[in-house]
Amino acid sequence: MKHLNADVVVIGGGHAGTEAASAAARTGANTILVTLKIDKIGVMSCNPAIGGLGKGHLVREIDALDGVMGRAADAAGIQFRLLNRRKGPAVQGPRAQADRELYRKAVLDNLQNQERLTIVEGEVAEFLLGGNKIEGVKLADGQEISAKSVILTTGTFLRGVIHIGETSTPGGRMGDAPSVKLAEQIDGFDLLIGRLKTGTPPRLDGSTIDWSILDQQPGDDDPTMFSFLSKHPVVRQISCGITHTNRRTHEIISKNLGKSAMYGGRIDGVGPRYCPSIEDKIVRFADKESHQVFLEPESLSNNTVYPNGVSTSLPEDVQLAYINSMVGLEEAVILQPGYAIEYDYVDPRALNASLNLKSIQGLYLAGQINGTTGYEEAGAQGLVAGINAALESRGSTPLYFSRAESYIGVMIDDLVTRGVSEPYRMFTSRAEFRLSLRADNADQRLTPLGIELGCVSSNRKDVFLDKRDRLTVGMNMLMGSTFTPKEIESCGISIKQDGKKRSGLDILAFPDVEFSDLHCLIPDSEELDDEVKLQLSRDALYANYITRQQRDIDAMQKEERVEFPKGFGFSEIPGLSNELRTKLERYRPENMAQAAKIDGMTPSALTLLLYHAKKRASESKATAT
Ligand code: FAD
Repeated sequence: MKHLNADVVVIGGGHAGTEAASAAARTGANTILVTLKIDKIGVMSCNPAIGGLGKGHLVREIDALDGVMGRAADAAGIQFRLLNRRKGPAVQGPRAQADRELYRKAVLDNLQNQERLTIVEGEVAEFLLGGNKIEGVKLADGQEISAKSVILTTGTFLRGVIHIGETSTPGGRMGDAPSVKLAEQIDGFDLLIGRLKTGTPPRLDGSTIDWSILDQQPGDDDPTMFSFLSKHPVVRQISCGITHTNRRTHEIISKNLGKSAMYGGRIDGVGPRYCPSIEDKIVRFADKESHQVFLEPESLSNNTVYPNGVSTSLPEDVQLAYINSMVGLEEAVILQPGYAIEYDYVDPRALNASLNLKSIQGLYLAGQINGTTGYEEAGAQGLVAGINAALESRGSTPLYFSRAESYIGVMIDDLVTRGVSEPYRMFTSRAEFRLSLRADNADQRLTPLGIELGCVSSNRKDVFLDKRDRLTVGMNMLMGSTFTPKEIESCGISIKQDGKKRSGLDILAFPDVEFSDLHCLIPDSEELDDEVKLQLSRDALYANYITRQQRDIDAMQKEERVEFPKGFGFSEIPGLSNELRTKLERYRPENMAQAAKIDGMTPSALTLLLYHAKKRASESKATAT
């Protein structure tokens, strides 16, 4: 049997594995991707959508470093929506519903055309180790591959078990066997291994849905693309249908809760709080009479529909009964039942910030195996592990992403310092520097790093440098001269006559001032292109906030030593989410620094805690004197 050699071996062709393999190869490493089935590379195991709040930022950052996900989502996107459109640009999230088949094909094409990357179909059954250093992998058919670094991205496959009602079967996801041999070897690595779970809804036959009576949700008129290299959608765009659960649906589910794998006591793993099953919703939000269900077509070329919001582990006959209880779905036929899956994950505190296991040199872990959920979180970790594995293979120092420069840095820091108590997903509230970490400026934050590492294509480099030059010209124009309040007012912009001179950027930050209002003061600015005008307007909008935010953060760091008095009533603090109240009461942190380390803690919650801790301290002082 031929013995293969590589700088980097990636195990698994899911969302983490594909980004890892592509990033390692782009960074110059000879890379081999080993995956169970080549035709399943890039498969979306659950919802046919990429992006969303917080997740969209991750996709933009992956793209800024020339990763695969953004371009694949643009190639496959059948509906683009910018979420939180009415809120500020910092918290807007690009999202695209994707044609599953086109997405899979776009990812596979990308990898097959990637220089220095070879794809091997097979099951990795063993890590080859020399002491505490990785030396390669052995496949189930006996083939060995030597490597300087190995990246493990097996998702939900490690000792995966699929649950539908009272039936449990081993499986990595529907139709795939689990990975047991590797799980057994990992048991011997002395790591903290836990069990998590996630679920997916039944898939429906769209030709059996009565679309004529359902509300429709179309995509945006001006689609926001993921990739900085894409201009517009390339395939036909579609609308989604909307229906709702109702009293009858809830009755059916409540009556059958005992048959649900999740409620019948057959699953120990913790599930994603932010992506609850329909059983969870009925129990946790018992007072709600209805939940919205989006009916998302999965493809332009078949009739499969994904009912978003009703993931389940109830038996198939109960699934059909509750589906048929909803308006428009009375005659709907299920093509594939919903199911829950339970799997092993590794406590990510065993990793350092390059995603290398602290105890085994050269072995990296990325994706769902680290306790995260979602394609975007997996892809972003794959990118980090891929770049670092390539750097290690050529003897370079690791690259650490900081919380101040990217959502990627926020996620990695959260994982490796705080660990997870439930499947981790990204939110904008996790990023304390979110006003500067915007989806629109991900290229300016990260592409220069990509150019330095050599992991971006020459085309991307040219596009980026051209945009940066145009932005510099625009910024110089706005900052090049200042105007008196009289001059500003003479151009129709109302302003306090305080005698203070202001730059174009200052003026652009005023509420209700549009870029076109500046043309009168700075005539050359009219010549700037729309992309530059939009970016400068966003920079102006946040310029003052960012300075203020930095001051708040500095102050917060000073306050980390503030202590909570004995018996401090965390559950009585108004404005905290129920989730945080429960966690604070459970962990009872002694001071602000400990509170900040609680999984899910947000900057605004910390501000509230600080306020109340100080208030209690001054009240106690007043009583004592
Ligand atoms: P995966 O995409 O699972 O990829 C793992 C890869 O490893 C596969 O290609 C597999 O073939 C390969 N592999 C496994 N073992 C071996 C081996 N020994 N040798 C070689 N190759 C191997 N995310 C959400 O955000 N929201 C949801 O609601 C949601 N629901 C989900 C429901 C289900 C039922 C499942 C299965 C997943 C769900 N997800 C959900 C999670 C989402 O699918 C994952 O987060 C994402 O796919 C993780 O990417 P990954 O690369 O870590 O793993």
